Amino acid sequence: MLLQLEERLNQVKNNIKEAAVRAQRDPEQIKLLPVSKTQPVEDIIFFYRKGIKTFGENKVQELIDKNEEIDNLEIDWHFIGHLQTNKVKYLLRINRIKMIESLDSWRLAQEIDKQAQKYDRIMSVLVEINISGDASKYGIKPEDTMDFVKNVVSLSNIKIQGLMTIASYVDDPEENRKYFREMAALKQKLKNAGYNFPYLSMGMSNDYQVAVEEGATMVRVGTALFGSRKY
Ligand SMILES: *Cc1c(COP(=O)(O)O)cnc(C)c1O
Repeated sequence: MLLQLEERLNQVKNNIKEAAVRAQRDPEQIKLLPVSKTQPVEDIIFFYRKGIKTFGENKVQELIDKNEEIDNLEIDWHFIGHLQTNKVKYLLRINRIKMIESLDSWRLAQEIDKQAQKYDRIMSVLVEINISGDASKYGIKPEDTMDFVKNVVSLSNIKIQGLMTIASYVDDPEENRKYFREMAALKQKLKNAGYNFPYLSMGMSNDYQVAVEEGATMVRVGTALFGSRKY
């Protein structure tokens, strides 16, 4: 079981490296974020002992519970799920939550800013982009991104660190390449306008290699590391 986790970790790391090399990128510039939702803390601890310190969760209560259970470890958390404004206060009081990757509305930005002020911290966020324009997806529309970023940078206790997107599950990951490419172009457009953010979080178990080839600096990988989810 643990051997399997180790094999998967080596495999994913190696795939990231190879994808980076194919795209003539430095593999060191790509951060692997294991997504531990529904997975047992024993597995998180295993990866932690292999040197991984940051994990992604998508449910507030689950994150709080896991954080309490393993608060002796120096783990950082990224919140990656859709966040309701009324739950922001529970997240922000946890110091180990270092990034909210799923900033998808102005109302949420204002609430994060307000709660961050209360806890006297600057909260790092990624702006979630609905790059495919899919009606069932959260996120800022690509064409609204510039204005949204301008508004959010005016808030004192939020720091935008980049962009994030969730692509659809597709049988052939090549189908998502155009979206990843559009995300990289959007990041570049912001850079040209003076907003030079480090992170581009895109790519999951099914398509992280394509995402890396197109410029991802963070890949969020769940099942390819932990195995199927334990609901
Ligand atoms: C679950 C989840 C992932 C990881 O999904 P896998 O397909 O298991 O790699 C990545 N990002 C977000 C936002 C998720 O909710």
